[in-house]
Amino acid sequence: QVTDALPREGPSSPSYDWFQRESSVTIVIYTKQKTINLDSVVVDLHDDSLRAETIIKDHSYLIHIGLSHEVQENFSVRVIENVGKVDIVLQKRENISWKCLGHPLEKHDTFIPKKDTGLYYRKCQLISKEDVTHDTKLFCLMLPPSTHLQVPVGYHVYLKLGVTGAEIVKPYTPVSDSLLSDFKEPVLPPNKYIYFLIKIYPDGLFTPELDRLQIGDCVSVSSPEGNFKVSKLREVEDLFLLAAGTGFTPMVNVLNYALTSVPSLRKVKLMFFNKTEDDIIWRCQLEKLVFKDKRFDIEFVLSAPSSEWSGKQGRLSPALLSEFLQRSLENSRVFLCICGPTPFTDEGMRLLHDLNFSTVEIHGFTA
Ligand code: FAD
Ligand code: NAD
Repeated sequence: QVTDALPREGPSSPSYDWFQRESSVTIVIYTKQKTINLDSVVVDLHDDSLRAETIIKDHSYLIHIGLSHEVQENFSVRVIENVGKVDIVLQKRENISWKCLGHPLEKHDTFIPKKDTGLYYRKCQLISKEDVTHDTKLFCLMLPPSTHLQVPVGYHVYLKLGVTGAEIVKPYTPVSDSLLSDFKEPVLPPNKYIYFLIKIYPDGLFTPELDRLQIGDCVSVSSPEGNFKVSKLREVEDLFLLAAGTGFTPMVNVLNYALTSVPSLRKVKLMFFNKTEDDIIWRCQLEKLVFKDKRFDIEFVLSAPSSEWSGKQGRLSPALLSEFLQRSLENSRVFLCICGPTPFTDEGMRLLHDLNFSTVEIHGFTA
């Protein structure tokens, strides 16, 4: 048979199927890609409507169904990576046989470029808020039980609040609850809580509103966004992190990932730019980590230090950078991350190129 279909660009279209057992219904997504993992799938269940978005390279595959029967709010998601298959296992409320899965809702079974999908939000409760510095706080939000969402390393989410009839939305980068997590017993189950280090600007639009929330209040959290690829860290020997102010936040998960999951790693150095000593986020934890892990080193640089400060001073400069960016071995495989105020990141990228680092060796975190 002759077809006149034009070859489509991008990955080939996924498909789905479903089957049931006495007490469960399993939706199976065949992604036709082996690059997916649990971070690639975001699932939200609201009453009887199920929304499952799978990110496949730069595309998004959506399952959006009004289920034919009631299910329990807890469900599980499994990914069989080497087959590229995702299982969403729903628990029936009643052990009866389903004749059909349900009816299609908006954009069900579509496969479109990620950039063309809007942001999808779910409401999360504020669980705790702790002071970290004089103006920066650690916020803990809890995902609804009926959501599966994991934020990939180096990705951010958008937080949304309604304020006097308008909605304000700003991006924030989730962090782990600490840099030294294995020093203490985990007290909360993983993946249900998202932590953020957020600086409150008294005259800012969003952060004073966020700071006004009471424990138990809700804030809307989007699905993850970003373009960082952990595969860039594969086989890296020297990792250099340049952070300014809250530009430290993406470095937290990059650092944790590198120290735990990159066997080739010899050295990680963080150069952390702040105005004063009081502005340094998690200084004590960073210093403990230097002590605990011989591969990790840190340099604080202050732009407005007190007269007692004996460490590095000033802002980004060629001299500071070339002294800092010493490799542990000649010709070692290197990767650099940079994040902070836009002029800082732009200037840093320019200086790194001047120092002969190539574009593939640098990731700049930008909007
Ligand atoms: P804004 O209203 O944006 O004001 C911030 C400050 O700038 C105030 O002091 C204000 O007076 C001043 N200002 C505003 N407009 C102007 C202007 N035109 N000229 C001069 N000054 C002005 N922040 C974090 O704390 N933690 C994070 O994890 C984090 N992650 C981010 C991830 C990404 C991808 C990006 C792009 C940003 C991230 N940010 C993060 C920054 C965050 O999104 C907000 O920009 C920040 O919280 C300020 O928001 P705001 O609405 O409270 O302040
Ligand atoms: P800040 O004003 O306290 O500055 C921290 C340091 O940055 C300063 O000490 C200085 O060394 C350097 N710096 C500041 N302005 C500079 C400039 N114009 N040129 C060169 N260097 C400069 O920082 P903050 O208030 O914590 O702001 C952090 C910034 O990081 C925000 O703009 C935020 O949007 C951004 N950020 C971006 C991401 C992302 O992923 N894109 C994530 C987190 C934060």
